[in-house]
Amino acid sequence: MARYTGPRCRLCRREGIKLYLKGDRCYTRRCALERRGYAPGQHGHARKKATEYGMQLREKQKAKRIYGVLEAQFRNYFERAERQSGITGENLLRFLERRLDNVVYRAGLAASRSEARQLVRHGHFTVNGRKVDIPSYLVRPGDVIAIRDRSKNSVRIKELVERAADQRPPAWLSYDAERAEVRVLALPTRDQIDVPVQEHLIVELYSR
Ligand code: SF4
Repeated sequence: MARYTGPRCRLCRREGIKLYLKGDRCYTRRCALERRGYAPGQHGHARKKATEYGMQLREKQKAKRIYGVLEAQFRNYFERAERQSGITGENLLRFLERRLDNVVYRAGLAASRSEARQLVRHGHFTVNGRKVDIPSYLVRPGDVIAIRDRSKNSVRIKELVERAADQRPPAWLSYDAERAEVRVLALPTRDQIDVPVQEHLIVELYSR
């Protein structure tokens, strides 16, 4: 599966907000947005008047970048969201939140979504007892995500398990620190999806 491999801090600078793409570094003064809080490129300092289309586009780019999803897959989530009943924008965010890499990140078992994606790819997790190495796997209520036995001795995994014990996952997930297991209690509601995205602008963009 294709993924963005360019400089990640550049994406935050383009959106003008922290997208927390680099894990712990994002919380330090080494954050590029704190040091250079303007858009990248030759005209980064220029003030541009945002058009309606421009604002819709930026909102879509922001959502894609937060979740590390490229255009084709994002569009696919949108089309599936549109076919569901309910509010399309919320359905879209719900699909993104249900991704296995996001759930691992939300539970605190990775410092960033990109680390979560790599850990999933490398086969460190099981869902309901079966190895799943597909970051885009969509979890369902009742699913239990656990670390594979053979991965439990990894130094990084041990660090992450300790880290997760100090964190609080969103209310639609529960984390058992003893067993290092995440349980999906329900599908997330909009107020449980903590991302700075105005999803209605994305819907408007795709409805043009
Ligand atoms: Fe964004 Fe993190 Fe880079 Fe700061 S350090 S610009 S929050 S990716």
